[in-house]
Amino acid sequence: MAEIIPIPAFADNYIWLLRIGDVGAIVDPGDAVPVIAFLDRSGISPCAILATHHHGDHVGGIPALLARRQMPVFGPAREKIPGRTQAVSGGDRIVVPGIDATFDVIDVPGHTAGHIAYFGEFGGTPVLFCGDTLFTGGCGRLFEGTPEQMWASLSALGALPPETRVYCGHEYTLANLRFALAVEPASAELGARNRREQAKRDRGEPTVPSTIALERATNPFLRAHVPGVRAAAAAHAGHALADDVASFAALREWKNTF
Ligand SMILES: [Zn+2]
Repeated sequence: MAEIIPIPAFADNYIWLLRIGDVGAIVDPGDAVPVIAFLDRSGISPCAILATHHHGDHVGGIPALLARRQMPVFGPAREKIPGRTQAVSGGDRIVVPGIDATFDVIDVPGHTAGHIAYFGEFGGTPVLFCGDTLFTGGCGRLFEGTPEQMWASLSALGALPPETRVYCGHEYTLANLRFALAVEPASAELGARNRREQAKRDRGEPTVPSTIALERATNPFLRAHVPGVRAAAAAHAGHALADDVASFAALREWKNTF
């Protein structure tokens, strides 16, 4: 049976384990300690590592995992990834050994310059591992890229099949939705999502994954082109916004100080 398991790390990171039987691939292991503890407890053997970008809270655990067992490490060609054996970039298709899963690599610059995402089917469902680019209810900060790049990256992810499950790198949903509600206070869909996600957190459950359909309906950073969202961004910025990129940039600035 195919299963995707969250391994919590640090304050709010998720390391994802894609498991088939007693073999598993690990996405963005920022810390080896909780991964090794989970593997030892469950009897699952690691078969590969996939990294989305170079930040320490996504790749810091790779050396310690490799010290226990050598395995392929897929990572963005344009970034420095410890232990990387397979440098990949947009347009590449990879087959992850052990779990025999196929993923398309998508270039999603913005949060970092060489950030990539992995999209494919796992257990019969389309899934996306997007690191710190698209968050549930939000998006990553622009540390190394421009608003143009990030808007293009998010638009590419937003164009994936609506049923795609979105596995991002952090549990930020409730804070993101507080901002989303400031942008679109009258959205019934957003209000309903906020209540559902709050209930999950109250039960101690992750709010990740979501779906591309839900993100398109409620995530302001996928909705910068929607007239009401652009109007809200313009009202907050105090000036007119010429296009979708300007609208996205104003939303990102607003969120930075929200
Ligand atoms: Zn990051």
